[in-house]
Amino acid sequence: MALQWALALHGVITVLVLVSFLCGHWPIFEGTFVERIHHFITAGAYHYFLRFVEIVFGPRVRNCFLRIEYYSCDRPNPILQLVYLGILGGTYYIIARSSFRYIPGVYVNEMNKYASILAVSVGVILFLLTSFSDPGTVNSKNVSQYISAYPYDNILYVEKECPTCKIPKPARSKHCGICDRCIARFDHHCGWMNTCIGEKNTRYFMAFLLWHFLICLYGAIILVLILAGQLKERKIIFILTVYYGIEKSFYSLFPHVVQWLLDAHNTQIVLTVFLIVISLLLAGFFGYHAQLCFTNTTTNEAFKWQEYLSWRRKVNEAQAIIRAVDGEAKAPTGKCRNPFRRSPFQSDLAVKNNVYDRGIFRNALEILVPLSERRSFIHPKAC
Ligand SMILES: [Zn+2]
Ligand SMILES: [Zn+2]
Repeated sequence: MALQWALALHGVITVLVLVSFLCGHWPIFEGTFVERIHHFITAGAYHYFLRFVEIVFGPRVRNCFLRIEYYSCDRPNPILQLVYLGILGGTYYIIARSSFRYIPGVYVNEMNKYASILAVSVGVILFLLTSFSDPGTVNSKNVSQYISAYPYDNILYVEKECPTCKIPKPARSKHCGICDRCIARFDHHCGWMNTCIGEKNTRYFMAFLLWHFLICLYGAIILVLILAGQLKERKIIFILTVYYGIEKSFYSLFPHVVQWLLDAHNTQIVLTVFLIVISLLLAGFFGYHAQLCFTNTTTNEAFKWQEYLSWRRKVNEAQAIIRAVDGEAKAPTGKCRNPFRRSPFQSDLAVKNNVYDRGIFRNALEILVPLSERRSFIHPKAC
């Protein structure tokens, strides 16, 4: 029983650390312990590590680490792309080596061997499309079309020039310091893809997330079916109930079945848990981005709106307090008060006014067929 609790605790901690590391900076986790863990993993722990290196080895070794950090995080490089290919290839290799011998089995037919190769190949193609296709680079030739396609909302975006590219900055674009170029409808710079996610490659990025979620789920289901097939083939339930006299109920058999699976098929168990954790993370990541796509908001804009609304609320609160102080100074001292009247200290609501949101269907279409690939972009209507 202690082993099961230890495994459950290990699983919870693994999920918490992975979710905090990958998603802790999302607006929904603001102010929570997930954000604090994310900050510790991504900045705090490294800061303490650098201080430790400086004290023990001196400032020259510390500067060496800073140069490695600069190359790894602030310059374009294929490190994470290679890590992705390593994880994908490595996981597939371990699954093939350890589990293909059970195919065909009771619940899994031969076709799944070939289907898995096809599924992984499609995943790699989506990865290459996202990584190496143009994310929507803004240059002197297309900047005027981008400015026509994305009007300034005068809230998040106002007319200005990119100080690096020396060209006007279309609304929704951002200069990426790593790629060193302006990207239309900038979402974020993705280290895993070694490129920006922008107007033209968001569709491939979304397909990549959805496909990898499905691959992980598919892998986990096949592994569970392989284990179920082994239980049946080896008559484990029969042996446990008839030879060992264990009561034939779920609660009595469950710990013994888990024990047998951990002894006989620990590789498949570890792989299944790994695939389920990754598929949950991918589902969360895909869901978050799908919700942004359906409301025609980019990740960059989600942060910008958060900052804008927080600032707007503070301004409103300050104005409400000033009005209340003025009002109290002038208010008549009558006893009858309207109970439905708003408290003078209540501020006006700060609301998101996204001018780019044109309804779910047109927003989704804008991802699938980017504005810059439409006829109206190349031949804009004369005003
Ligand atoms: Zn620029
Ligand atoms: Zn970039």
